Amino acid sequence: MTGQIVIAGAGVAGATAARTLRTAGYTGRIVLVGAEDCAPYRRPMVSKDLLAGTRTADRSFLEPEKHWAENDIDLRLATTVTDIDTERGRVWLSDGAVLGYDSLLLATGARARRLEQHPPVRVRTLRGVADIAALREAIETGPLLIVGAGLVGLEVAATARGLGAEARVLNAAAGPLDRVVPQAISAWVQDLHAEHGVRIDNEVRLAAVEQIDAHGVLATATDGRTWTASSALVAIGAEPDTALARTAGIAVDDGILVDEQYRTSAPGVFAAGDAARRFTAHRGRHERGEHWNSALTQGAEAAKSILGQPVTDIEIPWGWSTQYGVNLQFAGWPQPHEELIIRGSLESRNFTALALSDSTLVGAIAVGRPKDLRAARELIATRTALPSTEWADESLDLAELVQPHSHARR
Ligand SMILES: Cc1cc2nc3c(=O)[nH]c(=O)nc-3n(C[C@H](O)[C@H](O)[C@H](O)COP(=O)(O)OP(=O)(O)OC[C@H]3O[C@@H](n4cnc5c(N)ncnc54)[C@H](O)[C@@H]3O)c2cc1C
Repeated sequence: MTGQIVIAGAGVAGATAARTLRTAGYTGRIVLVGAEDCAPYRRPMVSKDLLAGTRTADRSFLEPEKHWAENDIDLRLATTVTDIDTERGRVWLSDGAVLGYDSLLLATGARARRLEQHPPVRVRTLRGVADIAALREAIETGPLLIVGAGLVGLEVAATARGLGAEARVLNAAAGPLDRVVPQAISAWVQDLHAEHGVRIDNEVRLAAVEQIDAHGVLATATDGRTWTASSALVAIGAEPDTALARTAGIAVDDGILVDEQYRTSAPGVFAAGDAARRFTAHRGRHERGEHWNSALTQGAEAAKSILGQPVTDIEIPWGWSTQYGVNLQFAGWPQPHEELIIRGSLESRNFTALALSDSTLVGAIAVGRPKDLRAARELIATRTALPSTEWADESLDLAELVQPHSHARR
């Protein structure tokens, strides 16, 4: 195939797609357009090593900088795709260039969600390397008030404590990480933070977060409670970056809608990563992930789909988080009401929690047991059902239950 493929977004999904197109033998032009001014990097490091200052941005690159030119990938940084003509197959770039395409991949990712009111100077968000310096300064000035107890908020709390700063978390939900883990694990996460001196106040409905003067912020809850701090981080989740797709008339609904082969509603236009909401036959509906490995795999699969190679894998979402040196991995769709079996013990920080729905494994959370988590992903994909007593039986190695030809992503 010759011609030109344009990729909007040089995060992990876009960069992996570009790389995969080349390794799969595509010989046409590849233009990878990225709004950030830094080569594709490992975003999960932003709230961990990069914020802590234990690693510099150039040590977080997905590939050495010369990789892109060496592989004949035209990487255009600090440039955005501003418009698409889906009928003629053309895009406009912020530097004035107009490019034709045979296929276009939208890998525009997500943006940090903000509070409704315009955020004042001392109220930050964290999404990329450009946000680090200001947040780091806020941590050093301390104390820091963190709004939101999702992955990013909790990781920043842990990093701030590691730097010796004070941090406090205000959470709208009943417990931390409630979107990805069941209640028992959420309580365990709460204790982990308490042990390191971080208090998480749950079920806080905030009315406003304001800057009171040059040195501080004030958060006010709807029930009248108030909190003050030097600065605040708003970490209340991410919103898929769908503006470009929507303007071009491409179907969007909490993400750019794609079928199993990553095709959007416009011919020749594909989407992958945090920006995309993909239909999966396994679940019978569209779903959107916000995890590194999902974005990476989706980028590779979308590239193959662009080249006409059908995608057959079953997507089991999985991710990880590191807080205070503890690595927590999670997979599937653990729901609060499902039966939870704990293998190992929460106290020892070495456990696998299995979420069952009618004896079928639907989700897993592991601390210190990556092998179990790998096996659990396969077992979720194959909808493995066992009596609870067997799931709880530690003498039964989860890896041994995996069918040799399971189709889950590895
Ligand atoms: C601080 C932080 C920590 C995280 N930690 C973890 C973790 O520990 N584990 C985990 O599993 N996941 C983690 N994640 C989530 C993970 O990083 C994301 O799921 C993943 O980066 C998504 O990749 P993506 O390529 O789809 O989108 P993004 O990484 O968002 O990249 C999209 C890129 O496209 C650019 N862009 C947008 N619009 C345009 C346009 N019109 N033209 C050109 N470029 C455009 C954006 O600027 C961005 O550079 C973390 C996320 C954050 C923010």
